[in-house]
Parts: sequence; structure tokens; C-alpha cells
Amino acid sequence: MQFSSIIGQKALISKLISAHNENRVAHTQLFLGNDGSGTLPLAIAYAQYLLCTDKIDNDSCGVCPSCKKFEKIAHPDLHFYYPTATTQSVKKDPKSSLFLDYWRSYITDNDGYISLNGWLDHLGVGNKQGYIRKDDANEIISKLSFKAYEGSYKVIIIWMVDKMNESASNKLLKTFEEPPENTVLILIGNKYEQLLPTVRSRAQLVKVPRLKDEDIIQKLQSTGVSLEEANKLATLSCGNWNTVKEIEDNAGETQANFINFRKWLRLCFQPRDYSELLKFNQEMSKLGREKQKSFLNYGIEVIHSSIQNNFNNTDNIKKAGEELDFTRKFSQFINDSNQKEIYKALNEAIYHIERNAHAGILYSDLSFKIVDLIAKGKMHVSKNATQ
Ligand SMILES: [Zn+2]
Repeated sequence: MQFSSIIGQKALISKLISAHNENRVAHTQLFLGNDGSGTLPLAIAYAQYLLCTDKIDNDSCGVCPSCKKFEKIAHPDLHFYYPTATTQSVKKDPKSSLFLDYWRSYITDNDGYISLNGWLDHLGVGNKQGYIRKDDANEIISKLSFKAYEGSYKVIIIWMVDKMNESASNKLLKTFEEPPENTVLILIGNKYEQLLPTVRSRAQLVKVPRLKDEDIIQKLQSTGVSLEEANKLATLSCGNWNTVKEIEDNAGETQANFINFRKWLRLCFQPRDYSELLKFNQEMSKLGREKQKSFLNYGIEVIHSSIQNNFNNTDNIKKAGEELDFTRKFSQFINDSNQKEIYKALNEAIYHIERNAHAGILYSDLSFKIVDLIAKGKMHVSKNATQ
């Protein structure tokens, strides 16, 4: 991973390079920022730069034997530690090194832009929390007791240091404070306040800012996305590349949910023709369980956005184009008279779908409830207008 493959962050990259050129590489650094701002790929590109034997202007060379090893994220002087938990294959005493192959392929597949939840899902840990534990700390200490294989730096990247438990961090305090010579420890964290104070105080802070819209747009356009679409994604993602990928991955499903939800609400808004509503209910009940849950969750999200809109918290509305227009129009009928009950009705429907309720009956029941609740919302609006 070279600096040239990193999205944006040009100012920060040149700071890192000049610190190196001026012989001011701090031994323990804390890269602090959202996952979607690229903290991990930056750390990897930085490690590659430090270990590259044939550096070019402002980047690693990409071709020397050291850089070649970085292509597979497998360099003997580069070590990773990250949160883990027990899984089907590792039933007790989880630690980073037991998952190294998963880790390498996961970051290669995602160019380093990963999130904690994505990683834990990939490992298949279920609902468990991931931690960096004492066994990881012991391995770090033992790794550092050997000299670098290839002579220059040894780099240890600890991703999500916020998830390091206390016994691990206690073991590492001395290492953070004074790592062995020619060692660079890069700690990566999301939230400053969640880091143990003992960790914070021992590392040089490197703030990784959110991505700028123009950097996201440029990256998207370079992969063939139209300017219009790139603009929309940049606005929606608030400088978070992981959100851009999420929106792109879910685009088809979101669009289908939007079209269905709009159609449903129109039918519930003016229920002159119940046969159309019944037809809709039948169609919905034929969808698979996950699709139905996704549709109802989309509905909950529209209600949430409508409430945000009514409170003028428009920055929190992650919608654009006709979806945003629709949400704005719809929001006038969401008010004190009905918002809680609509939430409740949609949540209950999800609950019953998870428990294999008869979908046909469920949608009929739910549709009638929504018809009544929207009528209530409309009445509330006209009552307030005449007052
Ligand atoms: Zn190189």
C-alpha cells in the first residue's frame, strides 16, 4: 500500500514524510480518527515507506523486495494486533496471531478501509465484543525482543487500541513509553476519550481528519462513477469512505425499499381503493424474511429522518434526490399524534417476522394500523392550522 493509493490526506502524508526526513520519527504514535478517514491504510502505507529500501520522492518505491512483501501484507518486520473474540474455529484464548490469514485477506480485499463491526462480522464472532488481550501484549513484547529481520525498523500496528483491555495495556505501558531501538509502534484509535489515559499520555498524537468531499469525489470518479453520483455520495457519507462503500453496496436494496415504501404510504394515505393495498400486502408477504425486515427497517429509518426534519436537524438525514424529497413531504404528517405509534407498529412487525408470523395477515394488520395513524397525523396538522 503506497501513499499514492490513499484517499486524500495529502497534508498529513507530507507531515509524516518530513518527520522521517528530519529524523523525527516518534517511537509511539497514536493515529486518531474515524475508520472511514483511512487510519489503517495510512498506517500501512507509512510502515511500507519506513521499511522501503529504495524510497522515491514522497512515497515508497513499490518494487523493492520490502515493498513486494507489503503487497501481501506479509513483511517479517511488520506486525498487526487487533480485536478478536472466540469463533467456531478458535473456541478459547483468542488472540490476533490466530487470525492472521483472515486479517491479511480482509484488509487486502478492502484496501485497508475496514470497520470494527465489519471485521468482527468477517470473523464470525456473533454478538461478542472484540478485545486486544493480555496474550496479544505478551506476543508484542516477545516480538520486540528480537532484532529487525531486515535491518531497519520494526513496525507494530495496533488497530483499535480503544479495545485493548486493561491487563493488556498494563503489560505494555513500559513498551509504549520506551520501545526498543528502531521500533515504531502505531496505535490506531477512534475515540480519544475511550482510550486509557495511560495509553494516551505515552503516544504522540497524529490526528487523521475526515476526508474532504473533493477527495471522495475524485476517488469515485477515478473508478468510473459519474460526477453527479459522486457528489451525492460525498454529501451522504460525511467524509467517511466506509459509508461510501456501504451506500454503494446497499444501493439496489435501498432503492427497492424506497420504491416499495413510497408506494405503500401512498396507498395508506388515500385508502380509497383497499384492493390495491391488499395486492401490495400480498406482494410483500411473498418476499423472503430478510428482505421484509430490511423493508420495515427502511420504514423506521424514514420515520426517524422525518422527525429529524421536523426538528430541523437536516444534517442527520442521510438521503438525497427523490428519496429526500419524499421524506420531506412525508414528514409533515409525522408528529406528536402518531410518531411513537408508527415506530411501535413497525418494530412489532419486525419482531413477529423474526418469529415466523403469517406474513399476509401481518401486512394487512400493519397496513390498517398505518392508514389510521396517518389519518391521525393529517388531523393533527389541520387542527393546528385552524388554531
Ligand atoms: Zn520499496
